[in-house]
Amino acid sequence: MKKITRRSFLAAAGLTAAALALTACGGSSSSTASSTASSAASSEAASTSAAAAELTTVEAGKLTMATNAAFPPYEMTTDAGEFEGIDVETAQAIAEKLGLELQIDDMDFDAALLSVQQGKADIVMAGVTVTDERKAVMDFSDSYATGIQSIIVPEGSDITSPDDLAGKKIGTQRGTTGYIYCSDDFGDENVVAYDNGLTAVQALNNGQVDAVVIDNAPAKEFVAANPGLVILDTSYAEEDYAIGMAKGSSLEDAINAALEELKADGTLQSIVDKYITAE
Ligand code: GLN
Repeated sequence: MKKITRRSFLAAAGLTAAALALTACGGSSSSTASSTASSAASSEAASTSAAAAELTTVEAGKLTMATNAAFPPYEMTTDAGEFEGIDVETAQAIAEKLGLELQIDDMDFDAALLSVQQGKADIVMAGVTVTDERKAVMDFSDSYATGIQSIIVPEGSDITSPDDLAGKKIGTQRGTTGYIYCSDDFGDENVVAYDNGLTAVQALNNGQVDAVVIDNAPAKEFVAANPGLVILDTSYAEEDYAIGMAKGSSLEDAINAALEELKADGTLQSIVDKYITAE
């Protein structure tokens, strides 16, 4: 697993999120597929109710997923109020392999992280970055995508690199790595935590903050929808996304096995391709 590269000053130009997701999916993980739901040969077998019977979940027969459906293209709602996105479809595919029905609980990001820790949800999928601090309080599956912390500024801003954030007001989402890194690097007093990315971007539009630090994939969507905003070519950090679970969750092996199959048979990549167009 890749380490978080803090302030790695990666040139984001040319590195599309899709390309990064591909990189993340390319390597085979070290997890063993020995237990429960998966044998490499047969994904059919995983979909039996026998597989579900072996798994203990918060609600019997269901895979309960906590998320924050305001993080496109990983999770968002359709006009009809249904959930969609890369995490949503990936969770759906995992649930099918485990013989469980997917149930999605939508809440703020920080609440979604707590939800698995408190045993209210089986998994949290919300573009969740793996960090050592989070690993102390929850378990993570193998990684399924790479994320990048990007910096959004108004066109013509004098902020042109991560270092220029010093002394500026930075908008972030509460409880996210963007918030944590910026508070560490530039001081709590300079960082404003909003409920979600959209509110942070609205604050940037209104001039209440000078920049927003947020994951690259939603950043692209927010910038596309808000003329006058741009993403800096230099990004702030590179991260791994994974599925969060309670510490010691009995689901971990089954989820990793299902994820491995979805990577191997191209399902995961086709889900990513559906939502992220390569440039
Ligand atoms: N990847 C970031 C984190 O885990 C943000 C995720 C999100 O806002 N949904 O902190």
